[in-house]
Amino acid sequence: MTGVRRDSDVWKVVDLECERQERQIELIASENHTSAEVIAAMGTALTNKYAEGYPGRRYYGGCEHVDTVEDICRDRAKQVFGSERANVQPHSGTQANTAALMALCEPGDRVLGMSLDHGGHLSHGHPKNFSGVFYKFSSYGVEKESELLDMDRVRELAKEVQPKVLLAGASAYSRVIDFAAFAEIAKEVGAHLMVDMAHIAGLVAAGVHPSPVPYAAVSTMTTHKTLRGPRGGMIVCGADWIKQINSTVFPGAQGGPLMHVIAAKAVALGEALQPNFKEYGRAVIENAKVLSETLIERDIRIVSGGTDNHLMLVDVSSKGLNGAEAENALHAVDITTNKNLIPYDQQPPMKASGVRIGTAAITTRGMGVEEMRRLGGWIADVLDAPDDESVRARVLGEVTEVTRAFPIYSAK
Ligand code: PLP
Repeated sequence: MTGVRRDSDVWKVVDLECERQERQIELIASENHTSAEVIAAMGTALTNKYAEGYPGRRYYGGCEHVDTVEDICRDRAKQVFGSERANVQPHSGTQANTAALMALCEPGDRVLGMSLDHGGHLSHGHPKNFSGVFYKFSSYGVEKESELLDMDRVRELAKEVQPKVLLAGASAYSRVIDFAAFAEIAKEVGAHLMVDMAHIAGLVAAGVHPSPVPYAAVSTMTTHKTLRGPRGGMIVCGADWIKQINSTVFPGAQGGPLMHVIAAKAVALGEALQPNFKEYGRAVIENAKVLSETLIERDIRIVSGGTDNHLMLVDVSSKGLNGAEAENALHAVDITTNKNLIPYDQQPPMKASGVRIGTAAITTRGMGVEEMRRLGGWIADVLDAPDDESVRARVLGEVTEVTRAFPIYSAK
């Protein structure tokens, strides 16, 4: 079954994408390179199986083996995150958030989450997303001077808004989130605390970022970012919430689970339980720190002055560029980033004043502090002279040399 490649139209493009990933330095903070075993699990006949329901309570026959794989996955999720219960079926982070909000409150209820302009995710109240359509979202942001969350301000807002759900977690916040303080505020105003740990799930699994699990009623995540699993979502919670969560995931938000992806999630969670995953988490953070320090030494402003996790927001207006221009200039030298709003940005989202950079993928390739210093130098060289052909040619040559020295799959 493996190795069948008859459809040349499709495989040609798949090969091009795999070659692109090997050739470019991947700095998109929400991406990673999974292991070959995670990819292999996704390419199996488990995709053929309908398994609506949960292990032991399915709406279809023939589920004996997929029941076992889902049980393995749930057990590993509970072990990795120290939670009483887990639901591993969400097809994506957004669907995990859909199910969590459906469990924690009713349509029309008030939810207080992080402002999308300051790092919150679309599923935290964007007017066109289910969250913004069905719930009354209000938002907290970072302070203008420090560009940090101020928990006193979050408390004031929570008292004002009186939300049913207080939502913590972000797509572009580079500092440690104080889940204990969020829990205290939620308690004070009688709200349920929901944490979306999509970005930092791998760091939490590695024990290098505080865990929200002891504090939140429900914690959601994606499995494909720092956790380094297949594209998908997952929810962990206590025994008190699992009944609602299981029913809001299925039949609430989804039909049949993707059993091939659940097998791949189980493989990734097995990897996260290995001692070397702790080392990986530690290296991701160390690499991010060294990269941000290198950029600062080259007079590039980093939002909030640095990072505690896997990502940083680079304010490229300090170099007279907007985010789209910086993204394009870096793309031309095979460094992949994404333009991103910075707090209190005056630019529209399609231009933005920043680029978001993350170290999860390059750390997976084995790059370390020495490569971070070189990488910071290349980014600064390009942002200093985005139209200089000779800079571009030199940096591209050096990037190619490094990506060849750190292959993603061929050496594993
Ligand atoms: N939550 C956060 C904080 C995210 O950053 C993301 C994705 O970037 C998601 C949820 C949504 O994940 P998905 O793209 O799988 O729907």
